[in-house]
Amino acid sequence: MKKSSLHEYNKKRDFKKTKEPSGKKARKKTKKLIFVVQEHHARRLHYDFRLELEGVLKSWAVPKGPSLDPTEKRLAVQTEDHPYEYATFHGTIPQGEYGAGEVFIWDSGTWEPEDEDPVAALEKGQLKFRLSGTKLRGSFVLVRTHYKEDASQKNWLLIKHHDESAKKKSA
Ligand code: MN
Repeated sequence: MKKSSLHEYNKKRDFKKTKEPSGKKARKKTKKLIFVVQEHHARRLHYDFRLELEGVLKSWAVPKGPSLDPTEKRLAVQTEDHPYEYATFHGTIPQGEYGAGEVFIWDSGTWEPEDEDPVAALEKGQLKFRLSGTKLRGSFVLVRTHYKEDASQKNWLLIKHHDESAKKKSA
């Protein structure tokens, strides 16, 4: 992985003031990749969707949160990579600090890429994967909107695939 992957994360935070983990190192690859969704009551409520890849957590802020309904495409704005240790973080980020507010773990579990090379798939702007969480299960896709091949474009959509775990939103 690139050395600078956690640079932006560290730059934004004062670890003397926040209890969030500092991003020292990427962890070694193990068999199961983990994911987490953190409900973050920042200035605006959003859900931070994070997938472990290359030892760090690839991250997106999902304003409305993930959905199991394939007709609900959820905007997911890519944010800086977070350290692997962040997956268990919950608590309060102090006022005045970056992302101030309460963080709760909304869901967590493991994930599997459905693409042969998930790093390349992410770079190309379309990653298919399966989640095994408590709330989120089955097949999903993250797809970069508009200029799909442009990695500086941060807007993605998180979409559930039609499968046994899909649910129609109850009206
Ligand atoms: Mn957040």
